[in-house]
Amino acid sequence: MGVLEYLKELSLADGISGREDSVRSIMERELKKYCEEVFTDRFGNLIARMGDRGPKLMLAAHMDEIGLMVKYIDEKGFLRFIKVGGINDQMLLNQKVVIHTKDGKRIVGVLGSKPPHKMKEEERNKMIKYEDMFIDIGARDREDAKKMGVDVGAWATFKSEFDILGNNRVTCKAFDDRVGCTILLEVARRLKKEDLNCQVYFVGTVQEEVGLKGARTSAFRINPDVAIALDVTICGDHPGIKIEEAPIELGKGPVVCIVDGEGRGLIAHRDVLRMIEDVSKRYNIPVQYEVGEGGTTDGTAIHLTREGIPTGVISVPARYIHTPVEVIDLSDLENAVELVVRCIGEVDKYF
Ligand SMILES: [Zn+2]
Repeated sequence: MGVLEYLKELSLADGISGREDSVRSIMERELKKYCEEVFTDRFGNLIARMGDRGPKLMLAAHMDEIGLMVKYIDEKGFLRFIKVGGINDQMLLNQKVVIHTKDGKRIVGVLGSKPPHKMKEEERNKMIKYEDMFIDIGARDREDAKKMGVDVGAWATFKSEFDILGNNRVTCKAFDDRVGCTILLEVARRLKKEDLNCQVYFVGTVQEEVGLKGARTSAFRINPDVAIALDVTICGDHPGIKIEEAPIELGKGPVVCIVDGEGRGLIAHRDVLRMIEDVSKRYNIPVQYEVGEGGTTDGTAIHLTREGIPTGVISVPARYIHTPVEVIDLSDLENAVELVVRCIGEVDKYF
């Protein structure tokens, strides 16, 4: 398998925060081919180790995606829900979702709304809040919905297809952060464990979208000398956003985070930055540097573990993050893989 196949399989797999099982099993299946040790920790993180000498490098990518969870079924069989992860209400309306039941069934539902023909002038331009939305699964009433296997606690993911756009660009749901998961698998596939001067820990973390939880517990267990979180980041290169708001462009290379969340998230460790910068120059890998305001990654939780862990973030630029139509450029993904592979080769010189 190569990056495209990995990305497709991982993005189409469904797993909201705390329900990452199907993503984890893909990761486990692949990492077992390349790593000495692969296991799932008590919290649900998948941890794989390659190499047994030199500094410990933790590479983290989160396996969860944003989604919904059923909180109430009304007497007519419509489902009310909460949002799991950062979701803009406007994005939800009239989407198709897949409801995942306790016994593993997949049931398609739609987020219905009032037809425009019946809307009054003032209703037409009004934002509808998620509390006022509902999922229609075709049930006749509450009993019928339950008979279909849907109950409180059933979770939902967006129904999306993987498509190839122009110029090596692809779209699907959940590129945040199956792109990072893809990097883990492809890096593992390309490394030769005999040549390693470091111990690489490939970690598929859980529950990132709801508070960077799995990164915290897994970093504590591994206690790495250095860590890199792998994720996606926002582009400012399309209509609706100004480039100065997010000076990152698709196709210009992976993104190295200097600061995110205005410094309240991660301030990347200088030695990690130095390593990534040196390596990118030495091997002619294009990179973009980011000083960000909103948003953060697993790196934030990792760097505050124990007495502090030198941490950085390498991201792939993505458009329309946290929607079912995220877009990335495959060349950025391939360059991110190359950058991580080369950093692994030199990490013992820096840590
Ligand atoms: Zn993410």
